[in-house]
Amino acid sequence: MSTTRLPNTVEPYRLAAQGEVLGGAIALDRFARLVDAVGQQTGECQVELVFGIDMQRQHYIEGRLHADVDMPCQRCLQPMSISLDSSFLLGMVSSDALAAQMQKRYEPVFVEDEQLDLFPLVEDELLLTLPQVLYHDEDECPVGQDALQSGDPVAEGEETKTNPFSVLGSLKDKN
Ligand SMILES: [Zn+2]
Repeated sequence: MSTTRLPNTVEPYRLAAQGEVLGGAIALDRFARLVDAVGQQTGECQVELVFGIDMQRQHYIEGRLHADVDMPCQRCLQPMSISLDSSFLLGMVSSDALAAQMQKRYEPVFVEDEQLDLFPLVEDELLLTLPQVLYHDEDECPVGQDALQSGDPVAEGEETKTNPFSVLGSLKDKN
């Protein structure tokens, strides 16, 4: 496992011209939007970014990331660790007009003043990779079928709002 610290701000056009590869790890608790979405994090995101210029002079970043993210199970609300992998291909642009003209295989990334912040970019990709809902396997979940059928302890208070499916499930089981 690499422990290199990625720089946040880079000069992407220069890195592309030089065909640079940046790799390293970012602590997940630095990603405020991720923490807001799924709670406190203890792991890291491993990132590899390949900078280059294609045959049509498009500057690009080809990226891969891997992270073990702690996310709450939607049945028992206890955190569980999930392994996420993602790859992405970004084309550097300086305007919406250029983004519209870009080859479809690229997602646009806007570069201003020759500078690019990598951490928000990596966080965006990570958020896109998160599953919408997540459950323990039934036999590993502290809230098993018995609890769902008896109606406690998930069917009260705030947990009801974040966990509508277990309520539906327990209603169905009673009928
Ligand atoms: Zn669970």
